[in-house]
Amino acid sequence: MIQEKVLEFKKLEDEIKSCKKCELWKTKRNYVIGEGDYDAKLMFIGEAPGREEDLQGRPFVGSAGKLLTELIEKVIGLKREKVYIANVLKCRPPNNRDPNPDEIKACTPYLIKQIELIEPSFIVCLGRHSARFIFELFGLKFPSLTRVKGKIFKVITSHGKSIHVMATYHPAAVLYRPLLKDEYVKDFEKIAEYVKEKKKEKTLLDFT
Ligand code: SF4
Repeated sequence: MIQEKVLEFKKLEDEIKSCKKCELWKTKRNYVIGEGDYDAKLMFIGEAPGREEDLQGRPFVGSAGKLLTELIEKVIGLKREKVYIANVLKCRPPNNRDPNPDEIKACTPYLIKQIELIEPSFIVCLGRHSARFIFELFGLKFPSLTRVKGKIFKVITSHGKSIHVMATYHPAAVLYRPLLKDEYVKDFEKIAEYVKEKKKEKTLLDFT
């Protein structure tokens, strides 16, 4: 990893840690910036920190995070540290309410910068708030999560880079409705297939 990228990340993280661009900084305990490999090819984007994430200052560390980690490691076959995990919002909305449009507008420049720095090949949107934001960011239509779920879309970023995007459920939704689990695992199997193909292509993409 080039030193310049590390410095850019550090600058961004410092900026987030003192952010007061929306009211959520007042009620949060910790900013939850994101974590993982700055050179990750696979990036997961959720909605906002929950209670446990807010306490620990880390994304997806509660029961939903446990399910996500299990699927990344057992189905996709990558260590959690080899992917990058972030959220649309960096502060927890009180009582886990939905993010409001002003909060999304204020906070997402940070996420966009994270995507620009990481340059992932594949973005997985976890839940409808994340999916709506990412689909619209890349000029994709977002009729509903149900309509796009599990499909892989190819987009070109503003820097001319080809990237794949897929939306699926937020793991918390699967914990709440266990009947969704089989379908959820199938979506992760599609991601695993993509990673396998990329490894076979022997391109410069390094997923391991
Ligand atoms: S949610 Fe985002 S924009 Fe709002 S205070 Fe936290 S870091 Fe800043």
